[in-house]
Amino acid sequence: MHQGIMKAWLESSHLYGANATYIEEMYEAYQEDPQAVSDDWKAVFENLPSINDSSAQPQEVAHSKVRDYFRSLALDGNRGSSVRASDPQLDAKQVKVLQLINAHRFRGHQNANLDPLGLWVREPVSELSPEFHGLDSQDMESEFNTGSFAYGGDTMKLGEIISALKNTYCGSIGAEYMHITDTDEKRWIQQRLEPSQGRANYDKAAKTRILEGLNAAEGMEKYLGAKFPGAKRFSLEGGDSLVPMLREIIYRAGESSTKEVVIGMAHRGRLNVLVNVLGKQPSELFDEFAGKHDHTTGSGDVKYHQGFSSDFETPAGNVHLALAFNPSHLEIVNPVVIGSVRARQDRRGCNDGSQVMPITIHGDSAITGQGIVQETFNMSQARGFKVGGSIRIVINNQVGFTTSNTEDVRSTEYCTDIAKMVQAPIFHVNADDPEAVAFVSQLAVDYRNEFKRDVVIDLVCYRRHGHNEADEPSATQPLMYAKIKKHPTPRKIYADRLIAENSIASEDAVAMVNAYRDALDEGECVVKEWRPMTLHSVDWTPYLNREWDESYDDSVPMDDLKALSEKIAHIPESHPVQSRVAKIYKDRVAMSIGEKPLDWGFAENLAYATILNGNKRVRITGQDSGRGTFFHRHAVLHNQKDATTYLPLRNLAEDQAPIDITDSVLSEASVLAFEYGYATAEPGGLTIWEAQFGDFVNCAQVVIDQFLSSGEQKWGRLCGLTMLLPHGYEGQGPEHSSARLERFLQLCANHNMQVCVPSTPAQVYHMLRRQVVRPMRRPLVVMSPKSLLRHPLAVSSFDELANGSFQNIIGEVDSLESSKIDRVVLCSGKVYYDLIQKRSEKNLSNIAIVRIEQLYPFPHKEMEVALADYQHVKDFVWCQEEPQNQGAWYCSQHHFHSAIPAGAKLTYAGREASAAPACGYADLHMRQQEALVNSALKL
Ligand code: AMP
Repeated sequence: MHQGIMKAWLESSHLYGANATYIEEMYEAYQEDPQAVSDDWKAVFENLPSINDSSAQPQEVAHSKVRDYFRSLALDGNRGSSVRASDPQLDAKQVKVLQLINAHRFRGHQNANLDPLGLWVREPVSELSPEFHGLDSQDMESEFNTGSFAYGGDTMKLGEIISALKNTYCGSIGAEYMHITDTDEKRWIQQRLEPSQGRANYDKAAKTRILEGLNAAEGMEKYLGAKFPGAKRFSLEGGDSLVPMLREIIYRAGESSTKEVVIGMAHRGRLNVLVNVLGKQPSELFDEFAGKHDHTTGSGDVKYHQGFSSDFETPAGNVHLALAFNPSHLEIVNPVVIGSVRARQDRRGCNDGSQVMPITIHGDSAITGQGIVQETFNMSQARGFKVGGSIRIVINNQVGFTTSNTEDVRSTEYCTDIAKMVQAPIFHVNADDPEAVAFVSQLAVDYRNEFKRDVVIDLVCYRRHGHNEADEPSATQPLMYAKIKKHPTPRKIYADRLIAENSIASEDAVAMVNAYRDALDEGECVVKEWRPMTLHSVDWTPYLNREWDESYDDSVPMDDLKALSEKIAHIPESHPVQSRVAKIYKDRVAMSIGEKPLDWGFAENLAYATILNGNKRVRITGQDSGRGTFFHRHAVLHNQKDATTYLPLRNLAEDQAPIDITDSVLSEASVLAFEYGYATAEPGGLTIWEAQFGDFVNCAQVVIDQFLSSGEQKWGRLCGLTMLLPHGYEGQGPEHSSARLERFLQLCANHNMQVCVPSTPAQVYHMLRRQVVRPMRRPLVVMSPKSLLRHPLAVSSFDELANGSFQNIIGEVDSLESSKIDRVVLCSGKVYYDLIQKRSEKNLSNIAIVRIEQLYPFPHKEMEVALADYQHVKDFVWCQEEPQNQGAWYCSQHHFHSAIPAGAKLTYAGREASAAPACGYADLHMRQQEALVNSALKL
């Protein structure tokens, strides 16, 4: 049928046979962007791919075919003669004009005026010149169709089109968005950029507000510079527009009913943001500069790593602001912020991200250099991690510490190119044009709210001083800093502009500067929108100042346990599962009715069920968390017919708490950081990150060192995150044996985290429950098992679940006569089973075995009880599977020494010191394992 339409259309059009090249060019323009051609042409091309194809899916059609197709249509339509156009020359130019428009949409940013210093060397883009398209000065007065260009009328003079294109795409904003494949998104951005030519028509009040922001940004730095000369403050100067930008973003967020904004940023400009956006009292900051601090808290942190929280009044409602605490690692805070945002959204029941918005602020060298950025982009649309998009701002001061970004910092054109992996629009903007900055700020918020995706603002600026204020930047960047010295400040440039256009009197501009300085002298909050916090939705006071050994009651009545057991073992008939999974569930049914002892997977699932039933939420992520890397959890069941999923844990009761078990993206650092962020914003439930194999936790070491182990000490931020790290020497080689227990133990101090090695299903059940039921919120690091998941001896009873609690130490369980004991073996984890099996095989009754299930904080009191009957023993051995320089031996032996009777000796039974965590040969592994067990048992 479409051929009829085509013929009719061709007969009434300006086509003719020889114009095939023209059509082809038009088609190319259409292929680059369907909006680039008029609706008539679009209709033709939309029909084009299905010429010989009855399928619904359009297919790629070779250009030669396109040409043939039009030729044949033209011939058909005119019974052998060519279709003639009214003015072929003009038509050909029309195509060129559309291509010129399109070229600006694609590449205008490459000739935009982005660098305030004018130092960027950018090749002219030939496609942006009319000559490239065969258009010359004589065409400037000719009227052309504007296609989808959203400025002016349907037709415009070429000269006017070009000037509108230059204003829109080559001014202070360089819009990169044509890499987005979604036509609606592109059209939306065009509709926002083109009609206004990339400028907002700000009224006097809005302009004054922007000037106030710049005034505050500059005033603050100058004041600090004068009052504390030479002190490190990581000045914002050069990127001053960040302050009005953030304020515009918050105002816009308020208009769109956002209730909370969580901000992550590194040190550059942080003090400025703290005082001028979040409303931290300047006097507090000055005290910090003067070295005053609160001695009652932990170790503290330098002022440019501090976080802060406040509420901010906007005309549309107040917004809670939280600036995350941040270590020196430039980008790792981003996934932490996103995790915190997700926790807040979950708590608010907000599924589309609208109520809580993240802003992450990056450096230009860091955003392109640090892999964590890629990881975070990758998470941005993944089910378990998405938050409805982040506003990502780059303070692009064109230098990384001393490294120039022209040659040494990156291999991409822009520092923001990484954002294209998720098709985020990128708005490069000249920071010396604060109105353009405000315009893209609002645009970014609106884009995020509309499409729930990440958006990037590249604030192209400079750094007035060195990396810090004690630095001498011209030593390494002589030309740049010669230029900077002469370059007026952003406030001066904008104030002069407003004075010139009569938007403000010059005395008023001066008065503004003085008023801000006077306010700093007063030391009171300088943010007039600042309000005391009322909007944050969680109270942390019940969790403050708690200790790990406080008593608690984690008991669940047996009847409830049994009822929940049946539910977690139940699969609806409509949900057929894979046969091995069916067998596991059949066993679970047998366990639930007491026909089988409880295994690890059952007890663990039951722990979650009881937590949910107690109205506390559960969140578990990890690369295989639904199934469990070692096929033990099966909390997410996959229907073998239609691939839908069923979670027994979501089907316990109408009023149960929510559970999320989501397989994570394949990364450790960003996921662990995300979960840290989640757990520091949500104390009310159980948050778990599970490593696929424990040794992969290496890749997240920065999160462990800089957040998990030290966040409470440095920043007073509590975090109850649980980490399940499969660990155990089972002959799988150096990479799949060790979760690097020694590294965690080495970081232990001040009761900062708990390190546990549970050895039975009852122990994992109580350990997980304890982490929620007890009000203390500190990280729990678990060396979790692999082969023990199915070990016939690693089983428990309902009675142990209903009537027990987590045992930090498990003393000798066999009824050995204590007076005959002449050696006590201390151990943790799986090796216990090797030891008891060998002891029973050899009928040894003189050796007691004591399990230390919590290595840190060390349970001295329970240890005393466990060793009470062995005070006569002189021979104590610590037995471990790990090499001597690894595991608990070096880090925990002072605890073991202090626990054994005076005069007794403590020796070591384990692998020899080794550079690698484990050997790669199964037979060698077996020999080593046997030797260490024999040595522990004196065999
Ligand atoms: P926020 O919602 O992050 O702005 O936090 C609001 C307030 O709650 C903070 O000022 C702290 O007093 C408290 N708070 C937030 N997170 C934590 C945490 N992880 N540990 C302890 N207190 C917290």
